[in-house]
Amino acid sequence: MFSSNDLISFIRSYYNDDSFIPLHRPTFDHHEKENVLDTIESSFVSSVGGYVNEFEKLLESYTGATKAVAMVNGTAALHCALYSAGVEPGDIVITQAVTFVATCNVIHYLHATPLFIDVNKYSLGLCPDALSLYLEENALIDSDGQCRHRKTSQIIRAIVPMHTFGHPVQLFELNNVCQKWNIVLVEDAAESLGSLYKGKHTGTFGKLAALSFNGNKIITTGGGGATLCMDENLGKHVKHLSTTAKVPHPFEYFHDEVGFNYRMPNLNAALGCAQVGKLNQFVLSKRELAREYQCFFDGSKFSFVTEPEYARSNYWLNAIICPSKIEKEHLLKETNANGVMTRPLWQLANTLPMFEGALRGALPNSEWLIDRVVNLPSTPLEKSCI
Ligand SMILES: *Cc1c(COP(=O)(O)O)cnc(C)c1O
Repeated sequence: MFSSNDLISFIRSYYNDDSFIPLHRPTFDHHEKENVLDTIESSFVSSVGGYVNEFEKLLESYTGATKAVAMVNGTAALHCALYSAGVEPGDIVITQAVTFVATCNVIHYLHATPLFIDVNKYSLGLCPDALSLYLEENALIDSDGQCRHRKTSQIIRAIVPMHTFGHPVQLFELNNVCQKWNIVLVEDAAESLGSLYKGKHTGTFGKLAALSFNGNKIITTGGGGATLCMDENLGKHVKHLSTTAKVPHPFEYFHDEVGFNYRMPNLNAALGCAQVGKLNQFVLSKRELAREYQCFFDGSKFSFVTEPEYARSNYWLNAIICPSKIEKEHLLKETNANGVMTRPLWQLANTLPMFEGALRGALPNSEWLIDRVVNLPSTPLEKSCI
């Protein structure tokens, strides 16, 4: 019989650690120190310096994106991505109810409104069947070829699926729905750096995507993010936008449109350059930990969330599905009281006060998951990372 104490002992012995065990802790060695020190000694800690370009090149070659633009955080990267995707005030942007609040906030920043669609239990991400069904019942293509909501007449401009805990959504199926309805696909790949969908990196399937390098993500720049673009010219424009839309000139200040000051500082990029070098090791180490968890829960009443069969996941955050809400609450209480950090799923976005009135489809799977999902400590083991 399974008890929370067995899980606590298992996690403590895996990490060989009797002190507090966080959900996810960054891993650094002398490379990060050397790079950061270098920016301080050269005085290039801010908006000028070579690490930003180098970090962008490293991200491009790792993901296969045509252009990566480093930003101050993942939220800024997603804001810039949706703005560049052409989202306008009054538009609808479809996303999933199971996501971090940033996904919904950026829709609001653009004076657009979110529309929440269900996830499937299999990927924990936006369900193509639920999306398709909702559009069949509630959308039409107008005489200009635009997808509009039948009730509100708003343009449904974009969808933002999110690769929950690093597990890729069904990108081909979602892309097909987008093509049929003339909707732009923008991936929230904040959690899935290192995850592949049918052999290709997540974040390279839509028109644009956003990554995050916050302290709890698979690699970190302290705070940071990047917008990925699959089109060279669009990428150049995103970079222009993120740097106050300043037109290059030896001394004049001329800005040709309203831009953002979202550029990642060189100090943060220096950390990022060292972190990218360890990314493959982090992914391997996290996949190993996932296997250990899977064996641990095998035959118990808890089901461990594994990668969908079409994907190779980075297992950024390991997760289990508890048999009931009561068991979920019990497990959260016991582990956290004993210094092992575990967390429930984010409150469903449609239940947050600012998005309560938003349009939504039926959300049976989201509501089922919120009662049952628990995230477990997922820091990659250091010994296998160096
Ligand atoms: C982390 C995260 C973000 C935003 O990243 P920040 O760098 O913290 O702004 C956006 N979406 C999802 C799903 C995330 O997990």
